Amino acid sequence: MKLATEADAATSRRYQIAFDLVTRELGITHYPHTVWLTFVDEPPDVQLIGFGRVLRKKEQGAVNNKIIDGYLKMKINLHRSSCNCEDCQRENGSFDPLGTFCHEMVHVKQLISGELSRSPLGVKWRDHFYKPHQVPRYEDMPWEHEANRLGALLAVKVKAAIAATK
Ligand SMILES: [Zn+2]
Repeated sequence: MKLATEADAATSRRYQIAFDLVTRELGITHYPHTVWLTFVDEPPDVQLIGFGRVLRKKEQGAVNNKIIDGYLKMKINLHRSSCNCEDCQRENGSFDPLGTFCHEMVHVKQLISGELSRSPLGVKWRDHFYKPHQVPRYEDMPWEHEANRLGALLAVKVKAAIAATK
């Protein structure tokens, strides 16, 4: 897997460290997909979209003018608190971009491995199929439980790895 980021060099470096560690820990380094990570300043705070399709024309510039077939686009809102510096955001507890990244990467694992898939007919999670009216509430979704639990464990490791490079 590859990571494409639209950010300054220091931020890109931090998320590359996070990406390498998380994809290794989740056992997904061998997939051919690119995760395209962008930082935005408008809601929603995080969005994971665009699995397995060719980039549209207007999106191509952000990934060095390449057409990427099979990618996931992750948007993280870094400007949610009054100060958009990542350290301040972590300190005031309003938002944790690296922790969010780890959480979303667990969803990337669920999607590319086929554990989780969605269609107009419903949601498939491992050997369960939920019709639209059967889909659990957000706080009861088993894929969210896994993303919360694994994402938190990964975030601890990621932050230690980044701190070790300073
Ligand atoms: Zn989630």
